[in-house]
This record gives sequence, C-alpha cells and structure tokens, in this order.
Amino acid sequence: QPLLAARELSKTYGSTVALSGASARLDAGEIVALTGRSGSGKSTLLHCMAGIVRPDHGSVTYRQLDVDVSVTHRQEQLEQAPEERLSALRRTEFAVVFQFGQLIPELTALDNVALPLILGGTDRRAAQERARAWLERFGVLDRAEARPGELSGGQAQRVALARALVTGPKVVFADEPTGALDSLAGEQVMTELTSAARESGAAVLLVTHDATVAAYADREIRLTDGRTTVLEVSA
Ligand code: ADP
Ligand code: ADP
Repeated sequence: QPLLAARELSKTYGSTVALSGASARLDAGEIVALTGRSGSGKSTLLHCMAGIVRPDHGSVTYRQLDVDVSVTHRQEQLEQAPEERLSALRRTEFAVVFQFGQLIPELTALDNVALPLILGGTDRRAAQERARAWLERFGVLDRAEARPGELSGGQAQRVALARALVTGPKVVFADEPTGALDSLAGEQVMTELTSAARESGAAVLLVTHDATVAAYADREIRLTDGRTTVLEVSA
C-alpha cells in the first residue's frame, strides 16, 4: 500500500479543466517530482494530495484514510473517528513549502522555525533548541535572529525548509521550492532538501517545471492537460 495515493482526480474551475483523471502515488521516504507545462495541473494535483483543494471526483487516501474528509461513505467503513485521526495525522505528518518561503515577516528566522513545534505543544526552550539544530543543518544558523525581509532568497528558502522539517513530517509537499532562486542556489537547496528528507525518512512530493530540479527525484510523474503519465527517472 502506498503512503499517499490519488486516484482518478478531476477538478474544474469554471470552464477550465485543471485535472481530468490524474492518478499518483507516493511511497514512504520517496522523492517524486510532478512535472509538466505551466497550466498542466501540477499545483492542483499537489494541493489535492495535501488536502488543501478538494477534487470534484476521485479520491485521495493517506495511510488508507480518505484525505477528503467530506466523503463520509468511505469513512463509515473505518473504525474509530477517522476524521479526527486524519486531521491529527495531517497536522503532524504533512508539511508544505511554497515557491516564496511564506515565512511570517514579523518573526525572526529562529521563531519561524520554532513556531510549528510551539503550536504542537513543545515548550519554547526545547522548540528553539530544535529550531537551531535545523537552521544549522541548512547552513543558516548565523541568520537565526534575522527577519525574513533581511534574508536572501536562498536563505529564506532554507529557513522555510527548516520550518517544514522541524516537526519530523512523513510527507513534504513542495510547490516550485526553487522557483524564486537562480539555478546555482536552486541546486544547492535541492541537494539540501533531498539529503535532509532522506535522513529523516520524509517523502517529498515536488512540483517543478525544471528538468534539473526533477533530476533530484527518484521518480517523475508528468502531467499533460490534467492527466498523468508515469515516467521512471534513472536516479
Ligand atoms: P500548473 O501548476 O501545472 O501550472 P495549475 O494546477 O496551477 O497548473 O493550474 C491548472 C489550470 O487550472 C490552469 O489553467 C490554471 O489557470 C487553472 N487554475 C488553477 N487553480 C485555479 C483557481 N483557483 N481558480 C481558477 N483556475 C485555476
Ligand atoms: P504555479 O506557478 O505553481 O502553477 P500559479 O502561480 O499558477 O502556480 O498559481 C498560484 C495559485 O493561484 C495556486 O494556488 C492556483 O491554484 C491559483 N491559480 C492559478 N491559476 C488561477 C486562476 N486562473 N485563477 C485563480 N487562481 C488561480
């Protein structure tokens, strides 16, 4: 059984077909790239798999729980308040990284990274300790007290990756994580993201239109007009 699976997803926005029968799976610890032209449905598929966007048709399951909690007929077949279990799993086991880090501008880099732990109930001191370790892991510990506006693009994205990984997620959803960086900074961030993910056992689902970035993945799933084609990448 895959860790995360999307089956036959369809999604339209008005008359725009974003997805039409897209399927994808992600196994534990795997790094998978969603590729395709602009407008082919990559972001929509990622958002559906992360539970951020609800597909019109099809299903998304995480550890065999339905990510779309509104689909109650499936839930009834499962025991023990699966909706609560799933939302707890999503909170603790999913992390999202966007093109522009989307750090909180008022908080220091350190506090941005510590925040998910503090929200999860970790005390401030222990949270900051772990946040420091992750900033160090991404080579930006010296920027701990800087605010996002004072960071370079590459530094901000490293802080965003530290924030994503600090909670020990099972799945990291990354939408064009290097999209705002030049190619050298992009490759450095990809090297750091993939090695940190492999060390911590996190799977990564990555949207990119850049073949250089896709080459960091174990596998590539290509989208064409809202449909998926599975390609094997020689890793
Ligand atoms: P990609 O990530 O491959 O560029 P997207 O998933 O962002 O593709 O978009 C697929 C299609 O759906 C595009 O035509 C896009 O304009 C449209 N689309 C995506 N999200 C929305 C939205 N929230 N509202 C309207 N149209 C959307
Ligand atoms: P990407 O570059 O990853 O394809 P976009 O810049 O196209 O992303 O879209 C960013 C966000 O805007 C996404 O959440 C997407 O769903 C939404 N979006 C994309 N196209 C449209 C659209 N035509 N109308 C409204 N929202 C859109």
